[in-house]
Amino acid sequence: MSNPWDFETRSIHSGFDQDEKNGATAVPIYETASFAYNTAEELADAFQNRKFGYLYSRITNPTVSVLEQRITALENGRGAIATASGMAAIATVLYALVKPGDEIVSSRSLFGGTLQLFKEIFISFGVNVIYVDPTDSNAFENAVTSRTRLFFVETIGNPKLDAANFTEIAVIAQRNNIPLVVDSSLTTPYLFEAKGYGANVVIHSTSKYISGSGHTIGGVLVDLGNYDWFNARSESIRESAQKAGDFGFLARCRRQVLQNTGGCLSPFNAYLQCLGLETLALRMEKHCSNALALARFLAEHPRVQSVCYPGLETHANFEVAKNQFGAKFGGLLTIRLGSLERCFEWIRRLKIAKNLANLGDAKTVVIHPASTIYCTCSEEEQIAAGVYPDLIRVSVGIESIHDIIDDFDQALAEV
Ligand SMILES: *Cc1c(COP(=O)(O)O)cnc(C)c1O
Repeated sequence: MSNPWDFETRSIHSGFDQDEKNGATAVPIYETASFAYNTAEELADAFQNRKFGYLYSRITNPTVSVLEQRITALENGRGAIATASGMAAIATVLYALVKPGDEIVSSRSLFGGTLQLFKEIFISFGVNVIYVDPTDSNAFENAVTSRTRLFFVETIGNPKLDAANFTEIAVIAQRNNIPLVVDSSLTTPYLFEAKGYGANVVIHSTSKYISGSGHTIGGVLVDLGNYDWFNARSESIRESAQKAGDFGFLARCRRQVLQNTGGCLSPFNAYLQCLGLETLALRMEKHCSNALALARFLAEHPRVQSVCYPGLETHANFEVAKNQFGAKFGGLLTIRLGSLERCFEWIRRLKIAKNLANLGDAKTVVIHPASTIYCTCSEEEQIAAGVYPDLIRVSVGIESIHDIIDDFDQALAEV
């Protein structure tokens, strides 16, 4: 089912080309809650899935569908579901696959929000999460039990910036008949070909690079079409596959989880994210080249204690990252400045870079994770996620690299 077009062409033309009625070439925004039918029979057919039809925008919406189809094309997947946020996409996948008593084997190097979701919702519902080092592929095998329902891994751990070896983990997942769920928010479909590396479900927070200008919150989950849901370990998915066939997983996510929990994406946000996708390839090139140049500059800087960037040859997972992400390494790096006070002082002196909790913005942004995103985590959880009191996370934007370097340098001169 692979698409004949190259990535850049798909990101602009897939899912929508031009509006049949008026010829509009920008994706039309269907800002409507509901969709009318002329007869009760037609509405009943749509409700009972005898014929496809839009019903209510909590379930499906034509503008949101374009985003879903475009992402499906970029991932060469079976289908996608857009959600209100990246967290809603992750929660939807988890609700679809696990019930109390089940187990998740997860990378321990996770985005703070995902750690909190596991801890505050799923673990308290009686789901057991076994955390493993994502760079130790055998640890996944050793953690599998008869109750394991999924593997959960980020492509590049945020903010630890370690890179799991998906070729190895996918073999283990397949051997044990466990779906491999990958959060590719930091790499996007442009850097990481999830299906080619054996992922079965890929998730993106579209709030990040896909939106691209820090303007909207959104998420998406994609069934990559390479897992046999008829034989899934999750009973609810097997039941769903009996009814919806190959679309069993997507039907469970949309018709049961999303419809009942309500984490749908708004049509206007879907429109902005479709726009973002049109320039994703161009922007990712620039994020990656700027981040590499900045990482190299900071690695030589006497006031910076250490720099972590998977594109530096000194990074422990440099080779894995190089092979998996097409010799590009994303837009995030971290630095350690020796103390929390020096971090705060440096942030105060920055003139271009913004201090805020986002990443993947066109603007360069920095944050002190320990006092913000990870403030409710214990010290042990922080260390496991690679968060230290003197660590700053930088999301390198697409401004002129000279101006970014000058800004960092002038602020470093004062700490
Ligand atoms: C931001 C982020 C999320 C959560 O996405 P939201 O859109 O903020 O809900 C999940 N995973 C990763 C890796 C992220 O960076």
